[in-house]
Amino acid sequence: MMRILLKLSGEALAGDKKTGFDEATVRKVALQVKQLVDDGTEVGIVIGGGNFWRGRTSENIDRVKADQIGMLATVMNCIYVSEIFRSVGMMTNILTPFECGSFTKLFSKDRANKYFAKGMVVFFAGGTGHPCFSTDTPAVLRSIEVDADCLLLAKSIDGVYDSDPAKNPDAKRYDTLSIDEVIAKNLQVVDMTASILARDNKVPMRVFALQEENSIIKACSGDFNGTTVTV
Ligand code: UDP
Repeated sequence: MMRILLKLSGEALAGDKKTGFDEATVRKVALQVKQLVDDGTEVGIVIGGGNFWRGRTSENIDRVKADQIGMLATVMNCIYVSEIFRSVGMMTNILTPFECGSFTKLFSKDRANKYFAKGMVVFFAGGTGHPCFSTDTPAVLRSIEVDADCLLLAKSIDGVYDSDPAKNPDAKRYDTLSIDEVIAKNLQVVDMTASILARDNKVPMRVFALQEENSIIKACSGDFNGTTVTV
């Protein structure tokens, strides 16, 4: 049985609107994940919060508090996406590292495994529960904790490039590269904190464009348009 962790950015949920939710975009994600689950893959999800808030959004409030708002934004995103998933026939549960009353359940490895065994998609919301991280870190962290085979990074760009293709027309895309190269060249696959965690704990990653047709399903199969980061 294959178990993957899928990381979606907050912006991805907003489609062209940049903020809030774009239901058509999320529904496309839902239908792909449903196919994976129906075929027996276990799927965990981590979602960013950038469609609502980032800790660095405000310079005038305390960073720790600003990051708490960011973590709550990821909870809102997971509730929304979880409901869209349910509307297409999947079973879901949302786990957070802090109590959100009855909205979510407290994360533990055992609880996550129990839900996976029931065929549920498990959302890991609320980040790490601590400030000074982006959701890249909990994406890698939860991958480690639930022994995911691979971390799938659905982005607005179709892989990892040696320079920014928006600025450099000669930018070259990597088919495969190692996490050591990612770190040495400071390539933005995930942020540096998460990169080190991925290296030290051997979490392989696949980077691809969310907008491409069936890209999540293809990335899961390993035969996809994008970049593989090896460990
Ligand atoms: N955040 C945090 N701790 C975590 C994960 C997220 O404090 O473990 C906060 C942080 O403020 C971040 C926001 O949640 O800016 C949204 O997360 P996302 O990964 O979208 O952040 P981005 O990389 O876009 O700043």
